[in-house]
Amino acid sequence: MNLQNEKQLEERVGKNDQNSYEEISEKRTSKLGYVLLIVMVAFVIGVGETIFSDLARIPEGPISPSACVMNPVRNPKNLTKYSICQNSFNDVDKKFGLDEKYNNILPQLQEIASLNASIESNNSEIRKAESDIQRLNREYNLTLQEKMAGEKSIANKENIKDNITNTKVTISSLQEETRSLESKKSLSISQISSAAQSIEQSHKEATDYFLNKVAWLKFKVFLLTLVFVLPFFAFSVFFYFKLKRKNSPYTIILTATTTAFAILFLQVVGVFLYDILPKEWLERIFKFFMEVPFLRYVIYYGSVIVVIVIFGGIVYYIQKKVFSSAKIAIRRLKDKKCPKCSFSLDSQHIFCPNCGLQLKEKCKHCGELKVKYLSHCPNCGKDEVEKTSA
Ligand SMILES: [Zn+2]
Ligand SMILES: [Zn+2]
Repeated sequence: MNLQNEKQLEERVGKNDQNSYEEISEKRTSKLGYVLLIVMVAFVIGVGETIFSDLARIPEGPISPSACVMNPVRNPKNLTKYSICQNSFNDVDKKFGLDEKYNNILPQLQEIASLNASIESNNSEIRKAESDIQRLNREYNLTLQEKMAGEKSIANKENIKDNITNTKVTISSLQEETRSLESKKSLSISQISSAAQSIEQSHKEATDYFLNKVAWLKFKVFLLTLVFVLPFFAFSVFFYFKLKRKNSPYTIILTATTTAFAILFLQVVGVFLYDILPKEWLERIFKFFMEVPFLRYVIYYGSVIVVIVIFGGIVYYIQKKVFSSAKIAIRRLKDKKCPKCSFSLDSQHIFCPNCGLQLKEKCKHCGELKVKYLSHCPNCGKDEVEKTSA
């Protein structure tokens, strides 16, 4: 009998009716209650973030291949003793034979570095000698001016001239030496070129290996954080629906916890997806779309439609709830109007005098007449769907 009554009432009053009552009780709480729940959500998220960053440290991070092995490959010409690896190869370097390959050309690298040092010191000596010449030239010009003015010069003109000549000889010998150092350096660089290529290849393999390890690490962190957050999220959702079905006023507490855990859960999934999605490809596709005018306008129009569908959908849902047939019927009855044709009614009417709609029926509990569209009997107060035992 109960089940049948329930069905009948649902048909009469509309299926949305119960949901809308639930919504009201679920939302209702005091201002203090709201504040406490917001603090709770913030606190849960804060604790979650702390735990996430702690979990991310549990798996051991991979080691990257040494960057210094690439110096002779990228820029052999400017090699210095500081850009040579200081004999500290890690396990990844050793796994890919980078230490061996590097040590094989170490004598040449040291030679190039010392040649560079000599070239650099020669160059600075040349610069110094050139500035000496400029100074000597100025002194020489001064003695000429003094002579023209008929004054006795303090400096010895011939001495200055000799000095200039000597410095010029020094410069040209330094330049000569530098040229020979440069040609030695070129020879050394050409000697290591094939070894450098081999190092580059191995370094690339080692880097790929390292990046794979990084991806694997990120996946492990993802699983760890997921294992942490998923049970909380699942329990929260489960009890939320359990209380909501019971139309419990405590549902709002679980609404808050569900919100907090949903944010943490979405963060975990979002970070992981961001890591695994091929970003360069997405960027390239987006760039391609933006470069072709026609496709760009397709995107613009599409995004406008998406926005309308999302926001319109939300408003549609709200409107559907507010303007469900059951709600309309109750609102019209409140205004003393027929739910079907809006004709003004008298509380005595059993049928609508205009359209003939049956407005009242006998109460299942007491037999008195009650309004058909409202669940409770005005005589005995019992619910239409209430169990007979209650
Ligand atoms: Zn009517
Ligand atoms: Zn009754």
